[in-house]
Amino acid sequence: MKIGVLALQGDVREHRKVLQDLGVEAPEVRTTADLAGVDALIIPGGESTTMGKLMVEGGLDRAIRERAERGMPVYGTCAGMILLARAAGGGEPPLLRLMDIEVQRNAYGRQVDSFETDLDVPALGPPALHAVFIRAPVVERVGRDVDVLASLESRPVLARQGALLVSSFHPELSGDARVHRYFLELVRQRQEF
Ligand code: GLN
Repeated sequence: MKIGVLALQGDVREHRKVLQDLGVEAPEVRTTADLAGVDALIIPGGESTTMGKLMVEGGLDRAIRERAERGMPVYGTCAGMILLARAAGGGEPPLLRLMDIEVQRNAYGRQVDSFETDLDVPALGPPALHAVFIRAPVVERVGRDVDVLASLESRPVLARQGALLVSSFHPELSGDARVHRYFLELVRQRQEF
């Protein structure tokens, strides 16, 4: 199984390291040809405007949308979650609009724009998941087909719609690989596409 990490900008290396530590091949995806060689994709955190523009320049937005519509699993963290959303407030970057969620960028407040907390995630079981939020987007609305897997102050922070997974936090930074494992399990279940 090959899980590509979109490598246009952002914390690419950290995601690749978590995947490699789990024994999974994790090539960088910079071009549509790279994308054709992977079974699933992680869109990392970073700066969604920059990443969105680079994605469009290389035609990767269309290629990702086409693959995802045919069932390729995609996991977007933070800026990656913004790019998967159907709408984003606070300066909308070019979006993939694949997932029925609406987000507001940088919406956890200016004074404490980065923080860490522990989340209860029933789908992962105990113990609580340590989560790192960095200038994170807030999920303001989720559609009917979206399963909310974890919330913070009644806002979804980890959610799934079919083979699409998003988190507003950075699981690649906390030393706990359970969200990546959850994604790998989802990819294994979808290998028929
Ligand atoms: N604030 C960033 C954005 O809006 C996302 C932050 C992150 O990915 N850590 O693009």
